[in-house]
Amino acid sequence: MSAPVAGSFLARVFDAALPGGVNASSFPVFNPATGVKITQVADMGPAETEGAIAKAYEAQKLWAKETAKARAKLLMAWYDLILEHQEDLAQLLTLEMGKPLVEARGEIGFGATFIEWFAEEGKRLYGDIIPTNMPGRRLMVLKQPIGVVAAITPWNFPNAMITRKIAPALAAGCSCVLKPAEDTPLSAVALAILADDAGLPDGLINIITAQNAPAVAKVLTEHPDIRKLSFTGSTRVGKLLMKGCADSVKKVSLELGGNAPFIVFEDADIDAAVQGALLSKYRNAGQTCVSSNRFYIHENVFSAFAEKLTAAVDVMTVGDGMVDGTTVGPLINNAALTKVLGLVKGALDAGAKAVTGGGVHPHGENYFEPTILVDAKNDMEIAQAEIFGPVAVLYSFKTEEEVTLSANDTPYGLAAYCYTRDMARCWRMSEALEYGMVAINEGTVASEAAPFGGVKQSGIGREGSKYGLDDFTEIKCVSMAGIGG
Ligand code: ADP
Repeated sequence: MSAPVAGSFLARVFDAALPGGVNASSFPVFNPATGVKITQVADMGPAETEGAIAKAYEAQKLWAKETAKARAKLLMAWYDLILEHQEDLAQLLTLEMGKPLVEARGEIGFGATFIEWFAEEGKRLYGDIIPTNMPGRRLMVLKQPIGVVAAITPWNFPNAMITRKIAPALAAGCSCVLKPAEDTPLSAVALAILADDAGLPDGLINIITAQNAPAVAKVLTEHPDIRKLSFTGSTRVGKLLMKGCADSVKKVSLELGGNAPFIVFEDADIDAAVQGALLSKYRNAGQTCVSSNRFYIHENVFSAFAEKLTAAVDVMTVGDGMVDGTTVGPLINNAALTKVLGLVKGALDAGAKAVTGGGVHPHGENYFEPTILVDAKNDMEIAQAEIFGPVAVLYSFKTEEEVTLSANDTPYGLAAYCYTRDMARCWRMSEALEYGMVAINEGTVASEAAPFGGVKQSGIGREGSKYGLDDFTEIKCVSMAGIGG
């Protein structure tokens, strides 16, 4: 890629991403749409991580002393700058991650809402006075910042997964050391630049760009000055990190993999269900943890749903996310494509049929065809694994009991979707689905106001909403005697 224009925001990001200059230890970042190298970024390791923790530790002590109002003001200045740079940030995001530019713009706006939300929530982080259990004693609860927070984030939402962790951490009075995914470090660096421009104190947000994630994670999980780890990524890595945090007994928040069911009952609005399916399955080329993975369609409406979904999928435009009109971009890298291809091939070999798509898209080596499969079985790998690609697999069902059992038959429990116009069934399904989030008659579950998180092996803790702040606080009980009365 040619060098960015001197003085441009992109040039600032590239410079900040390689502070030691071209001779420093570094690794390349590629554009998944073209395979072309974008730039080199600093390859940091345990020593830089230790240094960042020490800086964060000092900065946190001062930050905790600021009033909630002062913290909110600085967070809002950061929010304003992010929106001012929405287009720059979106282009950078598409460049390193591949999603269509229109989705990247949406992600920057979505990411910023967490900063706005937690700037407001931080001002209302109330404690409690508890009715006393003994004369002469008073009981109070203070909510205090937990301390230095480690955050490890994925590549599929290179901006919003960061703000969803850092904003509540800062609002609660914490500082953080963040390791972004190695595929998408530039969006993290860009956010840190804008935080600095906004006047957030030095040392509050420390970015560790690194190729060797386990080496950095070892320091983050074991260091006694890190008091909490917040992770979004695979269940496999989440388990490793949780084990790593055990020795120093750190609080953990884990937002892990999913295997979302998308259930369409015979009384559903089929057109609305198709729209929801498109959003929950093909947005970000299916690379989201809340992407629908298993479509359970009532047998009486199966053909109607399949035909309408196929018609909509067949007009999708696959290509470089930078090009206007693209609706499905590339997968993040070749390993991701190989995984999706393996799952689809396995299903086809075992008897599933492709209604549309089914293989690599001719646009290029990281592109997968938007695909719909039928005649798959619940015991196939494609029904058990998180697909993370633009592949919808449709299963037919007869009864509510049967589909509830199938939907819950997974070790995961992040998001579930359900379409029906029967109000009683809406309640029953909301309660019966073993998931952290249930969307009824819509294809999205995430917003800054709603608690995001899973049950079972999909994770621990909630992000966003009023609950998202609690994860960054400790509850302290103050018991005061000698008062009389
Ligand atoms: P995905 O499968 O979506 O890439 P991962 O769980 O592999 O999800 O990655 C999410 C984040 O976890 C990234 O920042 C990545 O660098 C980091 N990561 C990957 N492997 C490890 C590991 N063994 N220890 C700690 N962090 C890891």
